Amino acid sequence: MAFPPGFLDELRARIPLGSLVGRQVRLIRRGRELAGLCPFHHEKTPSFYVVEDKGFFHCFGCGAHGDAVGYLMRAENLDFIEAIERLASEAGLAVPQQTPQERERAQRQKTQLEALAAAANFYEARLWAPAGARARDYLAARGLDEETIRRFRLGWASDDRQALRRALSSVTTACSIRRAAAQTSLSSRHCRRRWQTDSTWQI
Ligand code: ZN
Repeated sequence: MAFPPGFLDELRARIPLGSLVGRQVRLIRRGRELAGLCPFHHEKTPSFYVVEDKGFFHCFGCGAHGDAVGYLMRAENLDFIEAIERLASEAGLAVPQQTPQERERAQRQKTQLEALAAAANFYEARLWAPAGARARDYLAARGLDEETIRRFRLGWASDDRQALRRALSSVTTACSIRRAAAQTSLSSRHCRRRWQTDSTWQI
Protein backbone atom coordinates (compact mmCIF):
# COMPACT_ATOMS: atom_id res chain seq x y z
CA MET A 1 0.00 0.00 0.00
CA ALA A 2 1.29 3.44 -0.89
CA PHE A 3 1.07 5.80 2.05
CA PRO A 4 1.45 9.56 1.86
CA PRO A 5 5.07 10.69 2.14
CA GLY A 6 6.19 10.76 5.72
CA PHE A 7 3.41 8.58 7.16
CA LEU A 8 5.61 5.57 7.85
CA ASP A 9 8.43 7.80 9.11
CA GLU A 10 6.02 9.50 11.49
CA LEU A 11 4.82 6.10 12.68
CA ARG A 12 8.36 4.87 13.30
CA ALA A 13 9.33 8.10 15.03
CA ARG A 14 6.39 7.91 17.42
CA ILE A 15 7.06 4.31 18.45
CA PRO A 16 10.81 3.71 18.79
CA LEU A 17 11.77 0.18 17.80
CA GLY A 18 13.65 -0.42 21.04
CA SER A 19 10.54 0.16 23.14
CA LEU A 20 8.41 -1.98 20.82
CA VAL A 21 10.83 -4.92 20.91
CA GLY A 22 11.56 -4.30 24.58
CA ARG A 23 8.04 -5.36 25.51
CA GLN A 24 8.90 -8.94 24.60
CA VAL A 25 12.70 -9.10 24.65
CA ARG A 26 15.06 -8.07 27.44
CA LEU A 27 17.44 -5.73 25.63
CA ILE A 28 20.89 -4.70 26.82
CA ARG A 29 22.66 -1.67 25.41
CA ARG A 30 25.85 -2.43 23.49
CA GLY A 31 27.25 0.83 22.19
CA ARG A 32 24.76 2.28 19.75
CA GLU A 33 22.81 -0.94 19.54
CA LEU A 34 20.54 -2.98 21.79
CA ALA A 35 21.10 -6.71 22.05
CA GLY A 36 18.92 -9.54 23.31
CA LEU A 37 17.90 -13.15 22.82
CA CYS A 38 16.19 -13.52 19.47
CA PRO A 39 12.43 -13.96 19.76
CA PHE A 40 12.36 -15.77 16.41
CA HIS A 41 14.68 -18.67 17.11
CA HIS A 42 15.93 -20.47 20.20
CA GLU A 43 19.33 -19.30 21.43
CA LYS A 44 21.32 -18.98 24.65
CA THR A 45 23.54 -16.04 23.79
CA PRO A 46 22.20 -12.86 22.19
CA SER A 47 22.56 -12.51 18.44
CA PHE A 48 19.54 -10.27 18.00
CA TYR A 49 20.27 -6.55 17.62
CA VAL A 50 18.12 -3.44 17.46
CA VAL A 51 19.71 -0.46 15.73
CA GLU A 52 17.51 2.26 17.14
CA ASP A 53 18.78 5.26 15.21
CA LYS A 54 18.29 3.43 11.91
CA GLY A 55 15.02 1.82 13.02
CA PHE A 56 15.76 -1.81 12.14
CA PHE A 57 16.47 -5.11 13.89
CA HIS A 58 18.72 -7.93 12.72
CA CYS A 59 19.42 -11.43 14.01
CA PHE A 60 22.80 -12.90 13.12
CA GLY A 61 21.52 -16.33 14.14
CA CYS A 62 18.44 -16.78 11.97
CA GLY A 63 18.66 -13.82 9.59
CA ALA A 64 15.43 -12.18 10.79
CA HIS A 65 15.58 -8.55 9.72
CA GLY A 66 13.21 -5.62 9.42
CA ASP A 67 11.75 -2.45 10.85
CA ALA A 68 8.99 -1.89 13.41
CA VAL A 69 6.33 -3.02 10.94
CA GLY A 70 8.31 -6.14 10.06
CA TYR A 71 8.89 -6.90 13.72
CA LEU A 72 5.19 -6.76 14.54
CA MET A 73 4.35 -8.87 11.48
CA ARG A 74 6.71 -11.60 12.68
CA ALA A 75 6.14 -11.33 16.40
CA GLU A 76 2.36 -11.10 16.27
CA ASN A 77 1.81 -12.95 13.01
CA LEU A 78 0.12 -9.96 11.38
CA ASP A 79 -0.01 -8.97 7.73
CA PHE A 80 1.46 -5.65 6.60
CA ILE A 81 -1.75 -3.63 6.90
CA GLU A 82 -2.63 -5.15 10.28
CA ALA A 83 0.81 -4.23 11.60
CA ILE A 84 0.46 -0.68 10.29
CA GLU A 85 -2.99 -0.38 11.89
CA ARG A 86 -1.68 -1.65 15.23
CA LEU A 87 1.23 0.81 15.22
CA ALA A 88 -0.95 3.69 14.05
CA SER A 89 -3.50 3.07 16.77
CA GLU A 90 -0.76 3.07 19.42
CA ALA A 91 0.75 6.21 17.92
CA GLY A 92 -2.60 7.97 17.69
CA LEU A 93 -2.38 8.30 13.91
CA ALA A 94 -5.19 7.63 11.41
CA VAL A 95 -4.31 5.10 8.68
CA PRO A 96 -4.80 6.60 5.19
CA GLN A 97 -7.39 4.60 3.25
CA GLN A 98 -6.55 2.72 0.05
CA THR A 99 -8.32 3.12 -3.28
CA PRO A 100 -9.34 -0.17 -5.03
CA GLN A 101 -6.45 0.34 -7.49
CA GLU A 102 -3.99 0.77 -4.64
CA ARG A 103 -5.34 -2.37 -2.97
CA GLU A 104 -4.86 -4.37 -6.17
CA ARG A 105 -1.33 -3.02 -6.66
CA ALA A 106 -0.47 -3.79 -3.03
CA GLN A 107 -1.69 -7.37 -3.41
CA ARG A 108 0.43 -7.83 -6.55
CA GLN A 109 3.47 -6.40 -4.80
CA LYS A 110 2.91 -8.62 -1.76
CA THR A 111 2.77 -11.71 -3.98
CA GLN A 112 6.02 -10.78 -5.68
CA LEU A 113 7.71 -10.06 -2.36
CA GLU A 114 6.58 -13.47 -1.10
CA ALA A 115 8.08 -15.03 -4.20
CA LEU A 116 11.38 -13.22 -3.64
CA ALA A 117 11.41 -14.23 0.03
CA ALA A 118 10.70 -17.86 -0.86
CA ALA A 119 13.49 -17.86 -3.44
CA ALA A 120 15.95 -16.18 -1.05
CA ASN A 121 15.11 -18.71 1.68
CA PHE A 122 15.56 -21.57 -0.78
CA TYR A 123 18.98 -20.43 -2.06
CA GLU A 124 20.13 -19.57 1.45
CA ALA A 125 19.20 -23.02 2.73
CA ARG A 126 21.03 -24.61 -0.23
CA LEU A 127 24.21 -22.75 0.66
CA TRP A 128 24.18 -24.15 4.20
CA ALA A 129 23.20 -27.67 3.13
CA PRO A 130 25.98 -30.28 2.63
CA ALA A 131 25.75 -29.74 -1.15
CA GLY A 132 26.69 -26.08 -0.67
CA ALA A 133 30.11 -26.90 0.83
CA ARG A 134 32.05 -25.85 -2.29
CA ALA A 135 30.14 -22.60 -2.52
CA ARG A 136 30.89 -21.90 1.16
CA ASP A 137 34.56 -22.66 0.54
CA TYR A 138 34.49 -20.28 -2.40
CA LEU A 139 32.95 -17.47 -0.33
CA ALA A 140 35.47 -18.11 2.46
CA ALA A 141 38.28 -17.90 -0.10
CA ARG A 142 36.89 -14.54 -1.14
CA GLY A 143 37.26 -13.39 2.47
CA LEU A 144 33.61 -13.56 3.54
CA ASP A 145 33.12 -14.91 7.06
CA GLU A 146 29.98 -16.72 8.25
CA GLU A 147 28.58 -13.66 9.98
CA THR A 148 28.76 -11.62 6.77
CA ILE A 149 27.33 -14.44 4.68
CA ARG A 150 24.36 -14.80 7.03
CA ARG A 151 23.94 -11.07 7.44
CA PHE A 152 23.56 -10.49 3.71
CA ARG A 153 21.66 -13.75 3.27
CA LEU A 154 23.91 -15.06 0.52
CA GLY A 155 22.72 -18.23 -1.14
CA TRP A 156 23.86 -20.86 -3.61
CA ALA A 157 22.23 -21.96 -6.86
CA SER A 158 23.36 -25.24 -8.39
CA ASP A 159 23.36 -25.94 -12.12
CA ASP A 160 19.88 -27.43 -11.76
CA ARG A 161 17.78 -24.56 -13.15
CA GLN A 162 14.52 -26.31 -12.23
CA ALA A 163 15.40 -26.72 -8.54
CA LEU A 164 13.72 -23.51 -7.42
CA ARG A 165 10.55 -24.24 -9.35
CA ARG A 166 10.34 -27.73 -7.83
CA ALA A 167 11.03 -26.43 -4.32
CA LEU A 168 8.42 -23.71 -4.56
CA SER A 169 5.80 -26.12 -5.82
CA SER A 170 6.57 -28.49 -2.96
CA VAL A 171 6.51 -25.90 -0.20
CA THR A 172 3.49 -23.97 -1.39
CA THR A 173 0.52 -24.59 -3.58
CA ALA A 174 0.16 -20.90 -4.38
CA CYS A 175 0.48 -20.77 -8.16
CA SER A 176 0.63 -17.01 -8.01
CA ILE A 177 3.90 -17.15 -6.11
CA ARG A 178 5.47 -19.37 -8.78
CA ARG A 179 4.15 -17.06 -11.50
CA ALA A 180 5.60 -14.04 -9.76
CA ALA A 181 8.92 -15.85 -9.41
CA ALA A 182 8.91 -16.58 -13.14
CA GLN A 183 8.02 -12.97 -13.94
CA THR A 184 10.91 -11.62 -11.94
CA SER A 185 13.36 -13.99 -13.71
CA LEU A 186 14.87 -14.95 -10.40
CA SER A 187 17.38 -17.36 -11.78
CA SER A 188 18.97 -14.84 -14.10
CA ARG A 189 18.60 -11.58 -12.24
CA HIS A 190 19.45 -12.80 -8.80
CA CYS A 191 22.36 -15.04 -9.56
CA ARG A 192 25.81 -14.21 -10.68
CA ARG A 193 28.01 -16.96 -12.02
CA ARG A 194 31.26 -17.39 -10.17
CA TRP A 195 33.78 -20.02 -11.12
CA GLN A 196 32.10 -23.44 -10.84
CA THR A 197 29.44 -22.37 -8.38
CA ASP A 198 26.75 -19.75 -8.35
CA SER A 199 26.18 -17.55 -5.35
CA THR A 200 22.99 -15.56 -5.03
CA TRP A 201 22.77 -12.00 -3.79
CA GLN A 202 19.62 -10.39 -2.53
CA ILE A 203 19.19 -7.17 -4.47
ZN1 ZN B 1 17.04 -15.16 15.33
